[in-house]
This record gives sequence, C-alpha cells and structure tokens, in this order.
Amino acid sequence: MLSALRTVAQKVGAAPNLELAMAALVQCVKAEMGTEVCSLYLLNAEKSCYVLMATEGLKQESVGHVSLKPGEGLVGLIAKREEPLNLQDAHKHPNFRYFPEIGEELFKSFLGAPIIHHGEVLGILVVQQRDARRFEDQEEAFLVTLSAQLAGIIAHAEATGALRMMAQQANAPDHTRVRSHGTSFQGISGSPGVAIGMAKVLTPRGDLAGIPLLECDNVEVEMKRFHNALVKVRAEIQRLGQTLQNRLSSEERALFDVYLRMLADNAIGGEVVNRIISQKLQARSALSQVVMEHVNTFDAMEDAYLRERATDVKDLGLRVLAALDASDHEKRVYPDRTILIGEEITASMLGEVPEEKLAGIISVRGSRSSHMAILARAMGIPTILGVADFPFQQLDKQEVIIDGYSGKVHTSPSAALKKQYDGIIFEEKALSRYFDTQKDLPCETTDGHLIPLFVNTGLPSDILRAQERGAEGVGLYRTEISFVMRDRFPSEEEQRLIYREQLEAFAPRPVTMRTLDIGGDKPLPYFPIEEENPFLGWRGIRICLDHPEIFLVQVRGMLKASEGLNNLRILLPMISSISELENALRFIHRAHRELTEEGHDIKLPEIGVMIEVPAAIHQIREFAQRVDFLSVGSNDLTQYLLAVDRNNARVAELFNSFHPAVLRALNWVVGQCRKENKPISICGEMAGDPSAALLLMAMGYDCLSMNANNIPRVKSVIRQLSLTEAKALLKDTLVMDHTKEITEYLRSRLEAKGISRGLLHG
Ligand code: PEP
Ligand code: MG
Repeated sequence: MLSALRTVAQKVGAAPNLELAMAALVQCVKAEMGTEVCSLYLLNAEKSCYVLMATEGLKQESVGHVSLKPGEGLVGLIAKREEPLNLQDAHKHPNFRYFPEIGEELFKSFLGAPIIHHGEVLGILVVQQRDARRFEDQEEAFLVTLSAQLAGIIAHAEATGALRMMAQQANAPDHTRVRSHGTSFQGISGSPGVAIGMAKVLTPRGDLAGIPLLECDNVEVEMKRFHNALVKVRAEIQRLGQTLQNRLSSEERALFDVYLRMLADNAIGGEVVNRIISQKLQARSALSQVVMEHVNTFDAMEDAYLRERATDVKDLGLRVLAALDASDHEKRVYPDRTILIGEEITASMLGEVPEEKLAGIISVRGSRSSHMAILARAMGIPTILGVADFPFQQLDKQEVIIDGYSGKVHTSPSAALKKQYDGIIFEEKALSRYFDTQKDLPCETTDGHLIPLFVNTGLPSDILRAQERGAEGVGLYRTEISFVMRDRFPSEEEQRLIYREQLEAFAPRPVTMRTLDIGGDKPLPYFPIEEENPFLGWRGIRICLDHPEIFLVQVRGMLKASEGLNNLRILLPMISSISELENALRFIHRAHRELTEEGHDIKLPEIGVMIEVPAAIHQIREFAQRVDFLSVGSNDLTQYLLAVDRNNARVAELFNSFHPAVLRALNWVVGQCRKENKPISICGEMAGDPSAALLLMAMGYDCLSMNANNIPRVKSVIRQLSLTEAKALLKDTLVMDHTKEITEYLRSRLEAKGISRGLLHG
C-alpha cells in the first residue's frame, strides 16, 4: 500500500498546476486501485456545497456542473457524517441521487472518503465500479489514508488562491468557484498585535530544494543575472579542470566537458532561460525548478550509473546558485509593511529588514522562546510561529493579515476581513493613547482592592518598556535569555553586571530573578541537548542541580549584583519534588555563606518556587513551608496538566488556560498557600489576559506578572470592576464544564459591563 500511496503522491506533486494535479490524482487512484471511476469533489465554501472538480470514468462535461449540499446524495452524506461510505449497490441506498448528465448509472459499487483538514470537510474522494461488490477493507483504508494526505495539499491550494485562479481561468460558472475567499492558518502567537502587509518570503541561501517559485519584476534583468552566473561557473569549471589536469586521466577530465555541456544553451542553461521567460520566474526559482526536475528523474532511474548523475546535476545547480547569490549585490527589496515569512526566520534575517518597513513576522518553525521571537516581542512586531501546513513558498507578494493575539494568519483576505482588522488596528492606536494616560494610576478595583501588576523581563530593552507601562516590580526575569544571546556560558562577573542593571533599574522595587530555565524548548547553542521528548526531559532545575558549577556561578552573580540594593528575589523553576527544592536551597545558602566569608555584605534574598509541574500542586503546602513566596508558571502548568505541547501548532487550540481543570487547580493552589500564610503570584502568559487576570485576582493571587505590553490593558479592566463582581464571575466559571463556555461567558459578561472588546482582546 505504501508504494501505491507514494506513486500517487509523486504524480500529484509533480503536476505543474492544480488542475493537472487533480487530473493526475483521479487517474492515478483509478489505476492503482484498479477501479473504473475515480472522482474528486471539493467544497465551495461560499455556497456550502461540494462540486465535482475532476473525474476519470464519469462524463467530463459534468465537471464543474454537478454539486451537492452536505447531506444531499451519497457525496453529501459522507460530508455530513465525516466518515467513509462503502456500498455494494449505491443505487439502492436511500440517499442516492441520480444526475443524468454524469453517466453514473452504470456503476453499482461505491466507496467514498472525506478529505478533512483541521476538522473541516474540504472534499470527497470517490471510486466506483460496475459490479455490485463491497470494496475490501484494505481498499477503504487506502482511500482514507490518501484522503488524509490530500487534505494538506488542498488546504495549501486554497491558501495560495490556486483553486480560485483555476475556476476563473476556466471561466467557470459561479457554482464551480471553489472557496473563493482566502484561508486562515493557526499558529502560535510569538508577539501580540495585528498587521496587514505584503508577504516577503525569505529562503536560506544555498538550498536548491527549498527555493519557492517566485515571480520576477523584470525578465531581462533576471536573464542577465543568470547569464553572468553561468559565465562565472563555466570559468570556474574550466579552471578546476586545468588544475586537476596532471592528476586525472583524459577520460576523467572529460567529465568537466560534460559539465560544461550541461550548462549549455541547448541543455540546462537553455531550460532555465525558457522558464524565466515563459513563467516570469526569478532566476533562482527557475534554476531550482529545472535542476530539481533533473535530479528527481536521475534519482528514479534503475541504472546505478545514471542515478549517480543526479549528484553531478545537483552539484552544478549549487554552483550556479552560489554564483547567483553572490551576484545579488543589490539588496533585497522590502516592500512597505513587509510581513517577513520563512521556514525559519532567524534573528539575523530580521536584522536585514529596515525597521520602519517591518510590519510582521511569520516563521513556520520556531517557538515563543526562540531568539527571534524574543527580539520580535521586544520590538513590538506582531509575530506568528509554528504554523502547521502553511504553504509559505507561494505567498510572496501576496497580501497577508497576521493576528498576533490569536496566532492566526489570513492569506488573500477578503475586503470585509481587511476592514475588520483595520478596525482593530485603529482601536489599538486609540487604546495606546488612552493607556498613556493610565500609566501612573494604581491597579485598583472600584471597591478599593489593590493588586500589584509586575512585569516579565528578559531583554535589556524590556526595562524601558516596563517603566513606560508602569510596572510595579519584576515578577519574572528570565535569566536564560541573556544566556541564549551568547556563544558560551557568561562568567560570574558578566552575569553580575547583567543582573545589576536589572536590579538598579527597578530598585527599590523587587526584581524576581529566575535561575536558569534551559532545556525543553530553550536550547543553548553551546550546550546542545538532544532528546526525544525535551519537555519531559532534562530541563530547568534538573540541569542546574546536575551542574552545580553553572548553578553556583549564577546564584553568586545574582547575590553579588544585589549588594547594597537588597531588592533581589530568587525564583526556582520546574521544581517537581521536595528534594529538588531542598537541594536548590542548599546551594543558594552555600553561595551566600561563601560570599559572606569572602567579605561581601549581602542580605539573603527571599527565595520562591515556581508552581508549574502538576506534582507541585499536590505538595504545595510542603513547598510553601520551605520558601518565602510562590509563583505559578501557568504556561508550563497548562501544558503539563492538559498534556498539550505549548509550542505545537497542531494542538494549539487545545492549549487553553481557561480549561476548567486548569482554573480549578489554580484556585486550589491559592487556598493552600493561604493556609501556610505565604504570598503567591502568577507569571505565565495567562496573567496578561484581562479576563483571566480578573479571575486570578478573585482567586486571591497577590500579584500578577506579565509582558509589559499587557499591563495597561489588564489595569484598565481591573479598574472598571469591583472585587465583589470579579468574585461572582469566578464563582460562576468554577462550576462550568467547558472551556468555551467559560470564555464566552466571561466575554459576554464583561462586554455587558461596558468593557470594550478591544480591551479584552489581549
Ligand atoms: C511558565 O511556564 O508559565 C513561565 C512563566 O515560564 P516560561 O514561560 O519561561 O516557561
Ligand atoms: Mg515555565
């Protein structure tokens, strides 16, 4: 089955456009399954119906003309039930609908499978045969597997507008215009905010296979660039041949002539030029397309000698590509309001774009704690990461909206959607002006309850932003960020200086410094950790306790930095047992003792523990008895309670701190701390969400710590409600069973109290 699946995937993948891909699909499935008919129906989202888009075996005239609503006919039934349908005699099924124009009457047996992407039925794949027989289980499994694979391809085509273009080119009647609006993709929010802009797709240099098909602005210029690159590579090859003259036989030297011939106008060189002209492609794209086609052809050959030629072609292609890249003197042109898109946008790519032109970032790979995401947040650039099945290669120069609040990317947005987002951008600007007026007001409810809003920091630039937004202290300083920015562990003195800057900037206000929390999704380039399951692996305090030399240096750096300021608090991450906590405390006390012996006069800081592992919840009182304060890391706590990877876009919708289990755990934790008379704060992202902040305040959290950008939003909402009202909301939500029920309830209740959507949309 695997080889049949691979054959279909290869043929579909090799088709130059969507129409041919669909034709190849039905042809290939029909051949591989040995059936008499294979047809593909796709969703027309505007009309909510499934249109016949390709068939092999039924009448071609019916393509684009037959459509069924969900529930209508057998195709509609599959869409409605979202499961395959395997019938011995389709005509006898009560749902069977007869279309005279389709020529179906000859075929009795029927097998159809839905093509589902992210829970939406995008299409139906059907095979039919004359004989009345039930398709075998294996055949059904084949069709289901294939449909699952196709889902990504079809979603991809929607995003790039290929489906719409196809329908328009064919001048198809209205009802065949399949999903003529753009598509949305879900990722992870890397940095909040909304941006509408023009996609600029970046690809890493020197990777032939990863070059997208990008159109050029000027064919003449591209041809000239390609020609110059060829001249350069030809000269290079001739030089190589001459250098090796004495060491190679004449037969071996002939290989260089073969290379030169391959580059000639009647071979690869000419093919690339043709593509540049006929498809208006950039030279890099045309080169990649031609070379990869040849490489694939050679690769597929039986003969080992010929298969080897793939290596030669690739080598040549890479040489020309390098020459093209090197000749790329003129800087990349970035449009106004650039939305930078790439497989993995790095911090250095970010640096290439003039700051005034950069509106947003989408990186298909990467996590919130990647170096790039940290910089993006510091710069206030809306950013989305980890977008599953995102067809970024084909989005260059297309209009894109990114919603850094929800992690959504909208491609080819409709005018209505743009208008909606224009509204959000307008509101953001108005809000930001309003927030400036709130900076120095206390975070106080209408009935006089005060709750301090602290800030989460990491970058040096966070200090200024935090002060501008009126942070009352630092609830979480992520020390690992300054470790990520280097190529080795910072020395004790280097760390002392970094920490001193933070402590001085906020003194006399408290600064809560978390000891190194690396591992998981926060790798250090100079301390690689290869693990199958890094979030359940060697991370946070586990690494520190295994490496006292790293831990002690850090703690000494913190303590020394606090000398004379006395506003340091130390926070321990990822603690999952009492012995871990006790060992960490022992190290801190030891470092303090040693520094005192060395003549320093340092006050022992308050020491706290993070509650971010489920085990900690169940030993919270024992933890509380041993420390001065507690701080909940709701990001990890949510991840571990719900068993949802916080950085995995495929399950991003399941990662929700409003899940009843998370809320109940958070509520329980506060009650336990009260019994031990210890203060408890929260420093996960959740604290920066205004409705969550209200619930947390009502639960009794003593302090909320968040990204500086969220402080004004949270403060404004808290200042509009009383603690009594917040407690009533909490009481209601704590008995609810569903996440959605909770979030919708909170939104509607707060809106009813006159709190604007713009404020809650944080
Ligand atoms: C958390 O887990 O909620 C937290 C604040 O820490 P981090 O996001 O750095 O893991
Ligand atoms: Mg954490």
